[in-house]
Amino acid sequence: MSALILVKNGTVVTSEGVFQKDVLIEDSHIRKVASSIEEKDAQVVDASGMYVFPGFIDAHTHYHLVSRGTVTADSFPQGSRLATYGGVTTVVDFADHQKGMNLSDSLQVRLDEMKDGMAIDYTLHQGVYGHGFTADIEKQLEELKKRGVKTLKIFTTYRETGYLLEEREKIKKLFRYSKKLGMLVTAHCEYNPTIEEISKNWKGDFLPHAHADLRPAEAEAKAIEFYGSCALEEDCPFYVVHCSSEAGLNAIRNLRRKGATVYAETTPTYLFLDRKALEGEDGSLYVMTPPLRTERDCVALRQAVLNGEIQVVATDHCSFTREQKLSSSDVRTIYPGIPGTEELFHLLFTMWSKNPVVGLEKIVTLLTKNPAQLFGIYPQKGSLEEGADADLVIYDPSVRWTLTDETVHTAALYTPYRGFEVQGRVKMTFLRGKLMMKEGKYFGEENKGLFLKQHD
Ligand SMILES: [Zn+2]
Repeated sequence: MSALILVKNGTVVTSEGVFQKDVLIEDSHIRKVASSIEEKDAQVVDASGMYVFPGFIDAHTHYHLVSRGTVTADSFPQGSRLATYGGVTTVVDFADHQKGMNLSDSLQVRLDEMKDGMAIDYTLHQGVYGHGFTADIEKQLEELKKRGVKTLKIFTTYRETGYLLEEREKIKKLFRYSKKLGMLVTAHCEYNPTIEEISKNWKGDFLPHAHADLRPAEAEAKAIEFYGSCALEEDCPFYVVHCSSEAGLNAIRNLRRKGATVYAETTPTYLFLDRKALEGEDGSLYVMTPPLRTERDCVALRQAVLNGEIQVVATDHCSFTREQKLSSSDVRTIYPGIPGTEELFHLLFTMWSKNPVVGLEKIVTLLTKNPAQLFGIYPQKGSLEEGADADLVIYDPSVRWTLTDETVHTAALYTPYRGFEVQGRVKMTFLRGKLMMKEGKYFGEENKGLFLKQHD
């Protein structure tokens, strides 16, 4: 006998619109979304006064990342747990391109790491780094796609780690094969020649505030321009991860005017925090790359989110504890990265509720349909279609509360959004029909998260 759950009287919001509908879950799947469903054998969840969303996707996370001789604060179980408090049921994390290893084996390293820890579902972006860009790259990409990963991540900076992919010929080759194989190249955009030039001539100190000047918005714009034009020449789509500035946005607009297909992602950090945060005593807490920009950049990015120029909002969740972050005040050694999966939708909903110039479905699409489609997991994820995974978020829009270090569940034990007033709160989160979080209580289980193979 199958288990039925009936979510009644809620306001359902999907990328298709906003509806007064009931949702019937059968085991791990959506069976029906319709007006006034009656089902006597179902366990009823009353969602009166609540929004009902498809489970959110955080398309940019780094849980349990071993980096710079340490490991990030949030393990896979911890990352899964905190995600459910934000209504996130799927993450797209990253597989490093391991030195001396092909892409497929590199992917396997990450899959083996994640398998026992994840309580929510996940897929991966595979890094393609300069140090491993060998002549048989096309064959490697083919193999990777067969394994279920079709999104790639390249770096336009970080020569010292071997990540940098800088030769035009190689970049073009990657776009050419990606186009042929239907893969998507995503890029961290900071133009390395600009950054190396600035750092060579730098006369200032290396306190946290310097980070913003050592890696300026112009470098982002130049990288988007250069790598984006390579993509355009190969007629291949291009995805900019964590766009942080108005200059970057303008570079994207220029490429689009020339006919390029460019997808843009931004993160709550660049929407809601600016470089003034780097000047405080605890400035180290706000160091991530690219750096925080100006208030003007935040405003431009928020507008771009609302007017549809940005396709995905994800977090780049890469958490270090307060202690790890504050162990240095020198930007050359501060661990870069901050937490954010839990805050993600709360912040976006709050932004939208203050000025609802677009339908709520537009905001929901940034965390559901768009990333699911781009990363090949739609409509299993990111939708409430019949047969889709029963990933649901029940959101109470009436609560008003304040984010503090005590309200978040990250092992970093702080939130960069401390003191932010938030509208509404995730009340319940379901993953494949299973209740994961209800009113602050967590019910997830390690190793129950599934790896999602990406399809065309
Ligand atoms: Zn990242």
